[in-house]
Amino acid sequence: MAAAESEVSSALCAQFLSFSAKDTAAKWLQATDLPKEVYLHLARYVPKIYCLGPNLNPQSEDLLSQLLLQAPLEWYLCGEEPSVGLAKLEQNNQPSQLCGHVFKVGEPTYSCRECAADPTCVLCMQCFLGSVHKEHRYRMTTSGGGGFCDCGDTEAWKKGPYCQKHEPNISDSSQEDPLANMSAEMIARTYNVFSIILKYAVDMLTWDKEDELPQGLEPPERGDTYYCMLFNDEVHTYEQVIYTLQKAVSCTQKEAVSFATTVDRDGRKSVRYGDFQFCEQAKSVIVRNTSRQTKPLRVQVMHSSVVAHQCFALKALTWLGHIIRYSDALRRILCQVGLQKGPEGENSLVDTLMLCDSKMWKGARNIYHQLFMSSLLMDLKYKKLFAIQFARNYQRLQTDFMEDDHERLVSVTSLSVQLFTVPTMARMLITEENLMTTIIRTFVDHLRHRDLQGRFQFERYTAQQAFKFRRVQSLIGDLKYVLISYPTEWTDKLRDKYLEGFDAFLELLKCMQGMDPVVRQVGQHIEMEPEWEAAFTLQMKLTHIISMMQEWCASDERVLIEAYKKCLTALTHCHSGFTDGEQPITLSMCGHSVDTIRYCVSQEKVSIHLPVSRLLAGLHVLLSKTEVAYRFPEQLPLSELSPPMLIEHPLRCLVLCAQVHAGMWRRNGFSLVNQIYYYHNVKCRVEMFDKDLIMLQAGASMMDPNHFLMIVLSRFELFHIFSSADCRKRYNRENANKDVVQQNSTLIEEMLHLIMMVVGERFSAGIGQVENCDELKREIIHQLCIRPMAHSELVKALPENENKETGMERVIDSVALFKKPGVTGRGLYELRPECAKQFNLYFHHYSRADQSKAEEAQRKLKRQNGEDSALPPPVLPPFCPLFASLVNILQCDVLLGMLGAVLQWAVEPSGGHWSESMLQRVLHLIGMALLEEQQQMESSCDDNEITFNFTLKISRPGEAPSNTPSILALLETLQNAPHLEVHKDMIRWILKMVVSIKTMRERTAAAPSSEGSGHCQEETVRDKDKAERKRKAEMARLRREKIMAQMSEMQRHFINENKELFQQSLEELDASTSASQDHSPSSWDSALVCVGPRRWRAGGGERRQVVTCILCQEEQEIRPDSRAMVLAAFVQRSTVMSKNRRRPPHIPESYDPLFMHPDLSFGAHTGSCGHIMHSHCWQRYFEAVQAKEQRRQQRLRVHTSYDVENGEFLCPLCECLSNTVIPLLPLTKTSCCIGEQPGLPLWLNTISQQIKALQSAHRKAKPTNAATTDETKAVEDYPPPEGFRLDHTPMNPYSSSIKEMLTTFGTATYKVGLKVHPNEQDPRVPIMCWGSCAYTIQSIERLLVDEEKPLFGSLPCRQDDCLRSLARFGSACWTVSCLSTVQNHFIRLLSALVPDSQVENSPCILDVDMFHLLVSLVLSYSAVHCQDSSGLSVDAAQLHFIHLVTVAHLVQILLTSVPAELTMEQESGGVEHEEEESVCLFYNTLKTLLGSLCDVSSGWHLWHCVKAGILPFLRGAALFFHHLNGVPTPPDLHALGASEWETLCSYLCLPSNLLQLYYNHQDVFEPLLQGWCSHPGMRLCLQSPEILISFPRESNRLIELPEDYSALINQASSFTCPKSGGDKSRAPTLCLVCGTMLCSQSYCCQTELEGEDVGACTAHTFVCGAGVGIFLRVRECQVLFLAGKTKGCFYAPPYLDDYGETDQGLRRGNPLHLCRERYRKIQKLWRQHSITEEIGHAQEANQTLVGIDWQHL
Ligand SMILES: [Zn+2]
Ligand SMILES: [Zn+2]
Ligand SMILES: [Zn+2]
Ligand SMILES: [Zn+2]
Ligand SMILES: [Zn+2]
Ligand SMILES: [Zn+2]
Ligand SMILES: [Zn+2]
Repeated sequence: MAAAESEVSSALCAQFLSFSAKDTAAKWLQATDLPKEVYLHLARYVPKIYCLGPNLNPQSEDLLSQLLLQAPLEWYLCGEEPSVGLAKLEQNNQPSQLCGHVFKVGEPTYSCRECAADPTCVLCMQCFLGSVHKEHRYRMTTSGGGGFCDCGDTEAWKKGPYCQKHEPNISDSSQEDPLANMSAEMIARTYNVFSIILKYAVDMLTWDKEDELPQGLEPPERGDTYYCMLFNDEVHTYEQVIYTLQKAVSCTQKEAVSFATTVDRDGRKSVRYGDFQFCEQAKSVIVRNTSRQTKPLRVQVMHSSVVAHQCFALKALTWLGHIIRYSDALRRILCQVGLQKGPEGENSLVDTLMLCDSKMWKGARNIYHQLFMSSLLMDLKYKKLFAIQFARNYQRLQTDFMEDDHERLVSVTSLSVQLFTVPTMARMLITEENLMTTIIRTFVDHLRHRDLQGRFQFERYTAQQAFKFRRVQSLIGDLKYVLISYPTEWTDKLRDKYLEGFDAFLELLKCMQGMDPVVRQVGQHIEMEPEWEAAFTLQMKLTHIISMMQEWCASDERVLIEAYKKCLTALTHCHSGFTDGEQPITLSMCGHSVDTIRYCVSQEKVSIHLPVSRLLAGLHVLLSKTEVAYRFPEQLPLSELSPPMLIEHPLRCLVLCAQVHAGMWRRNGFSLVNQIYYYHNVKCRVEMFDKDLIMLQAGASMMDPNHFLMIVLSRFELFHIFSSADCRKRYNRENANKDVVQQNSTLIEEMLHLIMMVVGERFSAGIGQVENCDELKREIIHQLCIRPMAHSELVKALPENENKETGMERVIDSVALFKKPGVTGRGLYELRPECAKQFNLYFHHYSRADQSKAEEAQRKLKRQNGEDSALPPPVLPPFCPLFASLVNILQCDVLLGMLGAVLQWAVEPSGGHWSESMLQRVLHLIGMALLEEQQQMESSCDDNEITFNFTLKISRPGEAPSNTPSILALLETLQNAPHLEVHKDMIRWILKMVVSIKTMRERTAAAPSSEGSGHCQEETVRDKDKAERKRKAEMARLRREKIMAQMSEMQRHFINENKELFQQSLEELDASTSASQDHSPSSWDSALVCVGPRRWRAGGGERRQVVTCILCQEEQEIRPDSRAMVLAAFVQRSTVMSKNRRRPPHIPESYDPLFMHPDLSFGAHTGSCGHIMHSHCWQRYFEAVQAKEQRRQQRLRVHTSYDVENGEFLCPLCECLSNTVIPLLPLTKTSCCIGEQPGLPLWLNTISQQIKALQSAHRKAKPTNAATTDETKAVEDYPPPEGFRLDHTPMNPYSSSIKEMLTTFGTATYKVGLKVHPNEQDPRVPIMCWGSCAYTIQSIERLLVDEEKPLFGSLPCRQDDCLRSLARFGSACWTVSCLSTVQNHFIRLLSALVPDSQVENSPCILDVDMFHLLVSLVLSYSAVHCQDSSGLSVDAAQLHFIHLVTVAHLVQILLTSVPAELTMEQESGGVEHEEEESVCLFYNTLKTLLGSLCDVSSGWHLWHCVKAGILPFLRGAALFFHHLNGVPTPPDLHALGASEWETLCSYLCLPSNLLQLYYNHQDVFEPLLQGWCSHPGMRLCLQSPEILISFPRESNRLIELPEDYSALINQASSFTCPKSGGDKSRAPTLCLVCGTMLCSQSYCCQTELEGEDVGACTAHTFVCGAGVGIFLRVRECQVLFLAGKTKGCFYAPPYLDDYGETDQGLRRGNPLHLCRERYRKIQKLWRQHSITEEIGHAQEANQTLVGIDWQHL
């Protein structure tokens, strides 16, 4: 196939060889009908280059099209050799200062919060780095693709519009016409070429015939070759398409995936090539298969020549985009050509493209959009013209887009952001093209559903609806762009057009006014929740628009006045629409009366949607703020206002909320609750709740306060309670219905709160005399009064304004202190103490929950400061004149009547139908009034000005007839009421205020009053305070006790939630106990040796070890013959210490793990949480877990964080992930032999005799086969040496349960470590156990070095326990294995050091990790020693092993780790002179033996190399023998210090000059040395230094990360998927272990692993991390932990913003910087093998993590 294709292309080449671009161009120059000539050329060549077979061949197509098609065009255009001509053009070009870099998907973009005109203004990374904004507060996001860099656009930036690169030079003549420098002929030629080619491309891309071509393009010859073309849609899923394709064109799954991916990316893909019949057949199958669910997939059978021309059309557009880059003049000509109308006024080519946009496939759209961006949008003159065309086509384009099912990103409508966000452009389009009105009208047209009154009525909000609705909303986005910055200068025409738009907008709002009305449901619950989401979505989307409309109005007085009038007219119109049909009624109370209508919220229709009223409220405030109201009162229709009409609907809405709170609307279901929630929510409240309140304030300010309150009472349906003459009494008696009483209490509370808000909310500029930032400051203060908050929490709690910086950062520092984050958690802002006095308990944006939290927090704060607990209202700013009369509400008769009534109820609580909250609110209102009075007195110098006299009014007794006590008298009574403990401080505060105001009045009236009485009063107050505090202390104690009881109940819960913390404290506890219990060597200090015949032994019998089972709490002694005790343990494969990640994974079945390679590429790590159980208790527990899991799986298909089938379980105590248990074993008893032990030569001799005997015995035992008979005879000559009993079967010292556990753990280690099925008979079981012991010790040794901790005493107890168990288990595991197998392992191990002719394939010592060898030798020796009765001791053997291995390791280090240039002589001072000399000598010996070592003259260096290289080995050996032999540790190793070397050597029974080992037994070692050096592997190793491991092996680190996160984003944005040729990866993910970037979470990079499809990350973990992976998801800024295929979790990234917070998902866009502590923490988790455990904990805490398909990441 491939061969055939290349034949075709070579044939083609031959055919085209004679072609000359130059000649063709010359011919064209002569042509009379150039378009015809060119078309002829295209018709001839295009079908010969493109689409010649089923598989496209882009390289040769590109090459040929360059040669045959583009080259003649370029020749023609330049009139000379194109490369020369284009270079000239480029040279003469004066480029515009616009950067115009078009963003790729995922590329970082930067915006400046301080200087950007609006948030859509962005810079590319290059420009950003060269701009001034780098030093500003910038925002960083990743681009969704499309859009370009705004560098150089002076309108986009308030400051610094140019980066260094795009800075215009002063002599710039950018105003000049770029065509000025170009010759007329060139212009003409360019014009010709561009118009022909652009026309051709437009014709082809908009061509909709499948089988014919436009005139002049018909191919000379026509074959029966067709493509079956599949098109993209957003309806069918990937899976559906893949499935269908497999059926229709019988391709493999893989091909289908590739087809589907291309269709998704490019919008279309040919899935079959052949004759018409063949393609038609595939088409019908696809259509049939997909028509069932929805509309079928779009498929076309197209003639190959049509497809070919379309391919070249795309190429031609790309070529145009490319060629105009050489010169701005070319670009201008292209723009001209594109926008030119046809001779008879036909659409221009640009128009044609735009209008066909929704019919084109994705790939075509993308290419022409890009051409638009690099041409029309880069030329300032034509950008304007294009914008006009765009605006003219706007309605049509949007309508097409609604029908189109592609994302907006690939629609031409998305270009609006490039045009509308330029303020001058937007204004031009508003004035010239009436754009604002067009957008609004188009929007309204698309919302068709109306009720009888013409209001919107949305259908049930289905997914389909939501999709449609989202499309419509993009219009709102456009409107937002247009309005984004308000004009600083207005023209009359702009005013006219804006107001026309405003009218259209009012029409829209009128359709919303009163939509989704609700009626209270009584009796039955509603049957179906009514639709409400659509209406709220609309409201939410419009919120910003409404705010921006007001901003525009505020910027011009005339516009404001006109808009106000229009809005008022609209509102009046709305009101006339729905009369309530009720007669007016008259209300009277406290000597006042008012007319109103009869209307009950609880009985009639009421709607939450009142956008017209609210807009009017907003404009009303602006009248006050801009002082238009005072300067042009005559122009305002203020007299037309009817205040009761203004407040009517907002009041109803607020009453509705109150009634919902009071539980009166329960039967109306959740939809209403949700609406009320959003009404107050930060996303909506600015243009809903806030404005209703303002409207009430506006209305009330124009009314008699008594009248206002009576209407409020009436709407709250409370009028009857307060209006009766004896209301103070009657309410008590009228307790007919408990529910009603309860409801009324809540309603009264809500109403009092409303009054507080009407009088007290003065923080919007225009209502109160405040600055703009005061409102924000107050919001922040009140948020922080609840609790300290992180920056992002604060941002969330404040109304966002994405168009404008809220300036929060500036404000925040004035009211809060920043507390930095630790290694976890985040930075928090804490309220400055001095700001606490601005706290208002009844802050209008508090929810009830917020309020009670804030109250608690503030009371606590006051207690801590030793203050009383009163939370009086704060001092308020004065009202603006327009609202000034509102304060009178506080002293009006109706309010005083209400206050008196509530206080009276509180005095006589027998009825019980008042509430404390009611009283609290009344007290707060009284406090507000007193503060108001105080302030008025303070601020006015003249007594007569003070119109406010609250103190006087509350001192007067109540009205006749009952002649009730005054409010003041009631308060004094309440002060002593025992049931009002909580409110006492507040009442006291009020009384004090009254006194102080009276004093002030008297003082201003007459001479100052006597100090004495005041002092006296203070005194008694103080006494009382004392008693009070005592009482409170007692109460506090009781409360504490109660809390303690609750605490213990919550403990379990708490432990679950705070695992990390808990574990830490456990570890600390453990570490301290283990230190005190284990290391008490006292007098033995000097003689502490852990290995060899001289080793330390516990005197007077062994210490009994007693442990407690965590499951049954029984104690148990650890003895060989007792029941087994086990530790929960987790074995995992590990590559943490790997020095060679390129080593391919072993083949589990055949891998021989006996010798560990020094690169430590794979190991098995064992960890434990240290919790001990009886083996039988554990077994019972595990069986229960299994059973539970089975039941659970049957019931519901949920997963757990652990895999029971793989033996996993959670530790019953700490829930740590475990997968096996280690048995606890006592020390092996070794008799202390008195007899002299043989020295090394003799011992070696004995051992080799024993080995020979064993070898011959093993062969005899084995059934011999013919080939080996000779050898068998040969070894038969070796009889066992004296005392070695081959026939002796050692007695197994262990109880059956211990034996069982030995097998359990051994099998588990084998199974996990090799990734094989469990097989307890496999000879590799003991090897894996020894290996895991060695690997775990090595990893812990590394960890201690990395953490700079001493070797002993710093490990948590659980790790000590784990190591001890591992070592002792290792030495015992042979007892449950086949004896001869273990003996054979030993023989092979020893042969690596002591050459043995009987053992084949002994490794070279450079290929062996010596620590693993030592551990395995020691642990396997028991299997040989058990048959020895000659008196050889194990201790002696251990000593000889360590000596042998140490010497071998020395050789290894000297051969691999000595740097080549070691010539500098270092002064040694003679301290280690002997060592230096002997190491030199030894090195020279090696040199002689190998003859290839470099010269080294410095003994000092050599010795230091050796010391540094062997230290990890010695430290590991010390850990090993300490745990194996139970020898106490020398105190010197409990601290970091200089004496480590000497102490270690003596502890290990080694001379501190290690070379002595060699020189003491040179006779033994010399032949060994020769053997090692002559090993054939030796030369091989030394000749390839790149694979040599040098010592000490450095600890692995996670990769270096850049300081600035954007560097990573940038790196990821240029990363392309390695599998799908140059495509951008959607989820680039960085392996933090090795630094590989992966294309995660995507079909393209799925691979098969063990028969399952897995994503790139999971696949990578199996190569890089033995199944465990640590990744950084770059787009999400999220760390990903993976373990195996089913486990994973997300983890906080090590990047923080300036506020000490992470930004997972990059939603906030603050600059992020690397936090090294956090990164180190992740590294530590990895190094200590805790990733899997971390995942387990995360999954236990958050069950949703369990459901994620981790393997597809
Ligand atoms: Zn740029
Ligand atoms: Zn720039
Ligand atoms: Zn800036
Ligand atoms: Zn037990
Ligand atoms: Zn545990
Ligand atoms: Zn990796
Ligand atoms: Zn990929």
